[in-house]
Amino acid sequence: MTKHTLYYNGSWQDAHSTDVEDVLNPTTEEVIGQVVNADQTDVDKAVASAKAAFDSWNELKPSERADYVNKILQGITKRKSELVDVMIKELGSSRQFSESTQAAISEQEMQGTLEEIENFSFEEEVDNATVIKEGYGVVACITPWNYPLNQIQRKITPALLAGNTVVVKPANLTPYTALLLAEIVDEAGLPDGVFNLITGNGSDTGDYLTSHDDVSVISFTGSTQVGKSLYEKAQKTVKQLVLELGGKSPMIYLKGGDLELAVKNSADTLLHNQGQTCSALSRLFVPKDELERTKKVIKDYYTDIKVGDPNEADTMVGPIVSKEQMERVLEYIEKGKEEGAEVLVGGNKIDRTGYFVEPTVFVHVDNDMTIAQEEIFGPVLVVITYDSVEEAIELANDSIYGLSGGVVGPTDEAIQVAHKLKTGNIMINDAEETPKAPFGGYKQSGLGRENGLYGVEDYVEIKAIFK
Ligand code: NAD
Repeated sequence: MTKHTLYYNGSWQDAHSTDVEDVLNPTTEEVIGQVVNADQTDVDKAVASAKAAFDSWNELKPSERADYVNKILQGITKRKSELVDVMIKELGSSRQFSESTQAAISEQEMQGTLEEIENFSFEEEVDNATVIKEGYGVVACITPWNYPLNQIQRKITPALLAGNTVVVKPANLTPYTALLLAEIVDEAGLPDGVFNLITGNGSDTGDYLTSHDDVSVISFTGSTQVGKSLYEKAQKTVKQLVLELGGKSPMIYLKGGDLELAVKNSADTLLHNQGQTCSALSRLFVPKDELERTKKVIKDYYTDIKVGDPNEADTMVGPIVSKEQMERVLEYIEKGKEEGAEVLVGGNKIDRTGYFVEPTVFVHVDNDMTIAQEEIFGPVLVVITYDSVEEAIELANDSIYGLSGGVVGPTDEAIQVAHKLKTGNIMINDAEETPKAPFGGYKQSGLGRENGLYGVEDYVEIKAIFK
């Protein structure tokens, strides 16, 4: 799987850089290929390609841009099984999750935004003014490894529909999904330079790309730590900043609700994708007098979870993406033990080849412990008890993050609680998510929103012409 090529000016290009990094399969620990760290010459060429393509792309009719984006969607559907295989290989995402969620969610969200864009007002009259919405210019799309297809989709779909051109830089742990997406875009036949992709690490390639004078928008999904550092770069030329950052999201179980559902909703977000999900409901709040019942429900639920080779159809939990991430997760587990939390389930590395960690649940956790405050980004759930619903809300909001949340309980009461949570998304009981609703975070979980027309709004400049 060796590819040293970058994609810009509408075709595959040899890199100027000769600096390459190994890409590993986290299940086997074997090297599956290499990826190039694009240097400044490579970045300059990709940005120049996007800049040159901007005016004519921005001047197309919105419906013409939508036709091209629709072709990308068709390509994703056509090559879905290849995308799934690559994600299993480089990320370790289980086959069932890669098919049902990783790939499927990209199709659903793209479809949703394509349906919505027909209702978007690119031009409207306000008294004697014509108000026009149009693209900013070049968008630098910096994406993480945990949803290697959809994190890119969530940026390029609204950015392209709004009239921008893009330079994508995916995470170096999962470059092959992104390179396959670039093949799909190439087949879709977009005008040269509208979509560009360069591979590379964050500290050099990402740093240079996001500092580039000809980049108008930095759209970043990743850690809060790196997200914060991007303010400085954005201020240099007053770039628009879209940030989708970390989370430590609460699930509140209310008396009278379905406890099995609360446990399942929470646990599934920590088991699928090995808990490497920004919106994972990693803090489960239960009434103090229901702790013993909760422990039993959790133990029963975790009994039948298959951890193992992500290629096997019945595997739910695969490996952590890398050795470094695995060690980080294990350090958090040790920290939880040191701070006095009790391990109810798991708590150890699994002794086999690959970066496997046991699905882990802690009880007797205080909300101010490290494992309740910091994002672990692994299969670790913490259970916290409360005395009153007011206390549950206060504890749930006692976090630097505010990305997601869930409430399981009598519906009217659950909705009232949801109104008081300081997070961008909240799931009531077994509600389904429409891909047209906004996704994004309060507080240090981010700036701006993704999906539907809410996503498009982040990528348009607004001009008023008075007549
Ligand atoms: P990361 O911040 O280390 O890296 C994300 C991307 O930024 C990568 O492409 C990386 O190469 C690049 N990067 C790193 N340093 C950079 C720099 N100085 N300048 C420019 N680019 C740089 O995050 P990660 O480890 O890849 O992903 C995990 C994090 O992402 C978690 O905190 C998770 O919560 C967050 N995340 C958030 C969302 C969301 O929608 N809110 C979704 C997925 C992941």
